[in-house]
Amino acid sequence: MESGILSLGPIHKEFEKKFARAVGTKYAASVSSGTAGLHLAMIAAGIGAGDEVITTPFSFVASANSILYVGAKPIFVDIDEQTFNIDAAKIEGAITKKTKAILVVHIFGQTCDMDAITEIAEKHNLKIIEDSCESLFAKYKGRHAGTFGETSVFAFYPNKQITTGEGGMVVTDDEKAYEFITSLRNQGRSPDMQWLDHKYLGYNYRMDEMSAALGSVQLDRAEYLLNERRKLAEAYNKILPQYSDALELPCVAPENEHTWFVYVVKVKQGIDRDELIRKMAKEGVATKPYLPSIHLFEFYKKRLGFKAGDYPVSESASRRTLALPFYIGLKEEDLIHICKRLATNCK
Ligand SMILES: *Cc1c(COP(=O)(O)O)cnc(C)c1O
Repeated sequence: MESGILSLGPIHKEFEKKFARAVGTKYAASVSSGTAGLHLAMIAAGIGAGDEVITTPFSFVASANSILYVGAKPIFVDIDEQTFNIDAAKIEGAITKKTKAILVVHIFGQTCDMDAITEIAEKHNLKIIEDSCESLFAKYKGRHAGTFGETSVFAFYPNKQITTGEGGMVVTDDEKAYEFITSLRNQGRSPDMQWLDHKYLGYNYRMDEMSAALGSVQLDRAEYLLNERRKLAEAYNKILPQYSDALELPCVAPENEHTWFVYVVKVKQGIDRDELIRKMAKEGVATKPYLPSIHLFEFYKKRLGFKAGDYPVSESASRRTLALPFYIGLKEEDLIHICKRLATNCK
């Protein structure tokens, strides 16, 4: 703030450089939110009216919405029961002549099955766009989330692994996509243009300098922050089964390094998840149904004709999963208390 330059200054550029280096891409473009980043990623991929994009129904709504923003149609493919990520084995069945891209969402801090998905994308000449908003520094076979797609989007809302308040980042190795995105986020201006000259239909999706300063410092602390999250997840993994066999623990695929956006468990068949959440809430423990399936939101049903039963694995996960308290500073004694109360309330 003392520098007097509150937007379009040097700090967002510094944050971008650091971020690209940390994830392992050539370029990073800061944006005002993850959602804004997804919108620009869709435009940069050339996706528009009449196109289809394959994606997952088990995600935060912004991933599928970004497809609708550009007038294209989201084609959902059901998920893997264990990881909650898109089921790669079901993708080919959803490809049509109109399919242009696969928007993978690395859910909860764990990457999708990227070898299988990359092979399908190459075979059918489809682009891959990654929604990495929940998976900063997650790895698939040693390789970072964000390095598989033409573009990949990260988000820095306060509940994410690192935060800028509001903010996001689009990373890519493609210089043209990078330049296009940096122009679009800045009202369609190119770097050599005057303030009132515009080359493209652009947006104001810029990240301001204060947010970028926060992000830059958060990025320096990312290793510590992720480590603390990992320790909490490990504590739950160890302690929860001692009290309850009514809950299935998160499953981490052997090729994955999980970065724990949330800690989500699944109640066994026959247990009323919503009743469990109500009982826990009465005792002062906040848990959340996480996540609902996107295709069953009112406007998706109305606009695209989806109905219950269309994606049974996703719907079953939506009925049975809940996110447990998960924040840096959660004490082990509180974590034990949560596990005990879960066990009692599952009975
Ligand atoms: C958080 C999130 C987004 C959107 O990010 P915002 O910064 O809140 O706009 C998109 N996709 C997924 C999967 C997310 O978790």
